[in-house]
Amino acid sequence: MNLYENEIVEWRRRFHRVPEEGWTEFETTAAVIERLESLGFAVKTGTDVINPEAVMGRNPTLVKEAEDRARRAGVPETVLRRMAGFTGCAGEIDTGRPGKTVGFRFELDCVVTGESDSPDHPPVREGFASIRPGLMHACGHDGHAAVGLGLAHWIADHLDELQGRFVLLFQPAEEGVRGAGAMAASGIADGLDYLFAAHAGCEFGPGEVGVLTHGFLATTKLDVYYEGIPAHAGSDPEKGRSALAAACQAVTSVLGIPRHSEGASRIAVGRLVAGEGRNVVPAHAFFQMEVRGATQAVNDFMTAEAVRIIEGMATVYGIRCRIEKAGEAAVFECDEECVLILEKAARSMPAVSSVRRFTTERGSEDCSMLARRVRSKGGKAGYFCFGCRHCGHHRPDFDIQDTVSLPEAFGIFVRIVQLTSSRAV
Ligand SMILES: [Zn+2]
Repeated sequence: MNLYENEIVEWRRRFHRVPEEGWTEFETTAAVIERLESLGFAVKTGTDVINPEAVMGRNPTLVKEAEDRARRAGVPETVLRRMAGFTGCAGEIDTGRPGKTVGFRFELDCVVTGESDSPDHPPVREGFASIRPGLMHACGHDGHAAVGLGLAHWIADHLDELQGRFVLLFQPAEEGVRGAGAMAASGIADGLDYLFAAHAGCEFGPGEVGVLTHGFLATTKLDVYYEGIPAHAGSDPEKGRSALAAACQAVTSVLGIPRHSEGASRIAVGRLVAGEGRNVVPAHAFFQMEVRGATQAVNDFMTAEAVRIIEGMATVYGIRCRIEKAGEAAVFECDEECVLILEKAARSMPAVSSVRRFTTERGSEDCSMLARRVRSKGGKAGYFCFGCRHCGHHRPDFDIQDTVSLPEAFGIFVRIVQLTSSRAV
């Protein structure tokens, strides 16, 4: 492995050891800021890269705890002040020569799942397993962020050979599709001619690269709060209004939303909590649900129907209702020019044995929100997957074989830079 590749594996293992969940990535963001600035990048963070009004699914209590933890871990107060409670950052570097503005997106957050302690699990064997119970980089974002830093180093070293400008986006809270919307709404990706992003694994094995044409499901995550009226269930039941009963009716009703003739859809209610005690008319209910659609129109239909039912059920039961959007992603539309760049980049890698175009209607990816914003301003977007041998994302035994898969991803990113920004072109 060369200098950059060694460094990438080191960063990946460092991030892997100390995972941070969405919107709490203070230590990871601080490390990225420090590194980017040492390489000569101008770094923006806090509300320069996150529009607070567009933030979804951010728990202020968790954020506060994570900020304190970062402080104790030695993150300087000046850096925390710049972040202003919002994780993520963007590094920009200009060659000073006219050319394209090329953007890259890398995620920072981990998954809320504990890591395997099996001695066969590579992070355990090599001594870099998560030190935080219940949290693990089980989706490869540690590798993505590490590749981003390796790419930043390479660009800084090769600036004389390049033209145009580069913007590296380090995005918080991809899990639950919460962060990209706020980053897009900040305007940080406006003016990009190209946006590229990648993911480890997915349906691709070692040596295989998938280039997305369009796909992933559009999705909307909703948090629903019902507030009823408490009363003694035995002596004054008529004075109460049951939030629990309303929530149960709403949940079974949303699950019955008809399918849409124009494409696949999904609906799930993953969590319902309600009530206070056996003999109290339940005054509170809370549930978390999501809808998805193969097109924006299908997803919008599912969302509108769910909202109509949830609000309607509140009226039926005479209770109050509040619905919060906790996450959002669009269908990822890629541009043919970017697909061709990615195919060429991937095919130039000796370690890559197969390159194929793909589309998928499984899962969602919130980089689609950044891509949509970039494309709405006249830019183009591309996305690829670099394979590895994994047993399933978000599992305690997920692994990406960093010494093999990350150099491959890094090589493809370097090639993208050369294909879009080389002075020789
Ligand atoms: Zn992921």
